[in-house]
Amino acid sequence: EEVNPDDTVKVRLLGHGSSGKVYKVQHKRTNRLYALKIIQDKHEAAVCKQILTEMDILRRAQNPYVVQCFGASEKGGEISFVLEYMDGGSLADVIEAKKTLSERYLAEVAKKALKGLDYLHRNRIVHRDIKPSNILLGRNQEVKIADFGVSTILASTLAPCNTFVGTCAYMSPERFDPDSHGGNYNGYTADIWSLGLSLLECAIGRFPFLLPGEKADWPTLMFAICYNPPPSPPENASPEFKDFVQQCLQKDPSQRPRASTLLTHPFITKFEAPPSGVKAQTHSQLQSGGRFWGNFTKAFNAMFS
Ligand code: ADP
Ligand code: MG
Repeated sequence: EEVNPDDTVKVRLLGHGSSGKVYKVQHKRTNRLYALKIIQDKHEAAVCKQILTEMDILRRAQNPYVVQCFGASEKGGEISFVLEYMDGGSLADVIEAKKTLSERYLAEVAKKALKGLDYLHRNRIVHRDIKPSNILLGRNQEVKIADFGVSTILASTLAPCNTFVGTCAYMSPERFDPDSHGGNYNGYTADIWSLGLSLLECAIGRFPFLLPGEKADWPTLMFAICYNPPPSPPENASPEFKDFVQQCLQKDPSQRPRASTLLTHPFITKFEAPPSGVKAQTHSQLQSGGRFWGNFTKAFNAMFS
C-alpha cells in the first residue's frame, strides 16, 4: 500500500541520525504505525526529483529482511520517507544497552541480515551503508536492513564522507582506495566487510578498529582501515565465529564470500535445526525448543519495554 507522509501524525521522536530525524508516526486513516524519516538537508529541485523517482523503483524492494518504504514526499528541498516501523530499535541501541551479544544471538542476526543483503544483491542493489544503526529489530525476532535506498541514491550526488552518509567507519578499505588490490573493487562484498565489522562490534562491545576508550580523528581511522591488518575476533570466540569474521574482513574484496555463500557457513548453520540423522523431535525436545525461544523473546522484549 502507499502511505503519504502528509497523512500521518507524529507520536514521538525515535532518533537523530546523521541525515535528519526519525519519528514514530501514526497513519490518520488506518491508525497503523510507521517510522517517518525526514532528511533535513535542503536539496536542489532536480536532485529531489531524481531521488523521488529512484525511490519509486526502490519502493518495489520487498523482502522480510528489508525495511520497507511505503511512500515519500518532498517540500522545499526537504525529503520525507514513510518506513516500516521497527519497535526493537537498532543493533546500535542494543550494543549501547547491553554491551555485547552472545554468539547464538549474533548468528540469528547475521543470518537474517545476510538474507536481506542477498535479496538486495540479487536485485543488483548495493547497500553501501551497513552499520549497527541500520540493522533494525522487531520484538518477534525480526531483523531487517534499513536505509538501503537512501544511501545508494544519495551516494551519487554527494561525496562518500559527506555528512549524509554519516560515517565512513564501516566502509571497506577498497572504498577509500578503489585502485588497491588490483582494482578488484566489488560493491557487493564491500557490504560483506561492513556486516562482518558490525557483527564483530556486537561481539566485543566496541568499534573494532579502536581500543576501549580510544578516540581517533578521521585520517587516523581511515589509515588504520586501509593499512592495518583487519581486526581479529576475540580469542575466546568459537572457531566458527572466528572464521566467519575473518572471511568477511579480508582486505581483498574479491576474496570475501557473497551473502548467499555465507548463509551456508557453519557459524550460521550450527545453531539451526538439529543435525541431520535426528528423526522426528520428541515432545520434550519440542518443549525445550519452545522454552529457548520463549526465554529468548522474553529477554529480548525486556530490553525494549
Ligand atoms: P543513522 O542510521 O545514521 O544512525 P537514521 O536517521 O537512519 O540514522 O536513524 C536514527 C535512529 O532512528 C536509528 O538509530 C534508529 O534507532 C531509529 N530508526 C530509524 N529507522 C527506524 C525504523 N524504520 N523503525 C524504528 N526506528 C528507526
Ligand atoms: Mg539509518
